[in-house]
Amino acid sequence: MVSFAFFAHFSRSSRPVFIFQARKDHHMSLKGKTALVTGSTSGIGLGIAIELARQGAHIVMNGFGDVDAPRRQIEACGVQTAYHGADMSKPAEIEAMMAFAAEKFGGVDILVNNAGIQHVSPIESFPTERWDAIIAINLSSAFHTTRLAIPHMKQKNWGRIINIASVHGLVASRDKSAYVAAKHGIVGLTKVTALELATTGVTANAICPGWVLTPLVQKQIDARAAAEKISTEQATRELLGEKEPSLQFTTPEQLGAMAVFFCSAAAANVRGQAWANDGGWTAQ
Ligand code: NAD
Repeated sequence: MVSFAFFAHFSRSSRPVFIFQARKDHHMSLKGKTALVTGSTSGIGLGIAIELARQGAHIVMNGFGDVDAPRRQIEACGVQTAYHGADMSKPAEIEAMMAFAAEKFGGVDILVNNAGIQHVSPIESFPTERWDAIIAINLSSAFHTTRLAIPHMKQKNWGRIINIASVHGLVASRDKSAYVAAKHGIVGLTKVTALELATTGVTANAICPGWVLTPLVQKQIDARAAAEKISTEQATRELLGEKEPSLQFTTPEQLGAMAVFFCSAAAANVRGQAWANDGGWTAQ
């Protein structure tokens, strides 16, 4: 990002001469770092990737669907990107992605474990295949990326591991057994990671968003509208009203800014935390 510094020099006639100087790197706090954001082709992952890129970090992208449009958004911040399409439910593909990141940029300095899916159903009818997929993608993938990222971070004595958990890492909602189990699990994994690295320059923390309007949540709104035969707008109001006192969505940009804070020097001793950004959801 280009910012402007403002200087006032005083010439011999004592008249101030104002000089505006463009300082390209003023806000580039992560220049030279590499961030890998899983599930960065959409939603929260893309929002976080863009905010990290705005701070100068090169981005290793991952996720399904269209890659070109999100890639252009990230590269517009003036950084390099590389994309790996690893399926986060497959440990061998995760290993290949981590090797790819090391080959492209020399290693991952900032790891954002974000890829995730949802399935909503009571336990007795919850498809066992959906349970396995949610645990693999929303929880086990973070174990695999983390174990493979730690050696490089330790060697540099700097690293940031940011796990995108959820309010469902802190409290439960009915019909989300696998999701709530995976998210409570990733909060636990975050704490263990932080403790094992506590004497190093590597921190691990989790972000716990409330509702964020992404394709993952749009599906739940559409399902509610269909089930109750109400408009999408009404279903959206009901969804927020049920859990989120602010009646507002948290945005991917706001979560990106939290990730940037976790990467900052001010957060160097913030370890093993699970910080909510949830419009008051978990204050109730
Ligand atoms: P999204 O559907 O917009 O994005 C999910 C991303 O993960 C996409 O890039 C998708 O391609 C990728 N992905 C899905 N399965 C994958 C797989 N097997 N391998 C690799 N990539 C895969 O959803 P989102 O709302 O942006 O969710 C991102 C994260 O935020 C998830 O972990 C989700 O649980 C969490 N979260 C979301 C909300 C919300 O309200 N949207 C709230 C709290 C937490």
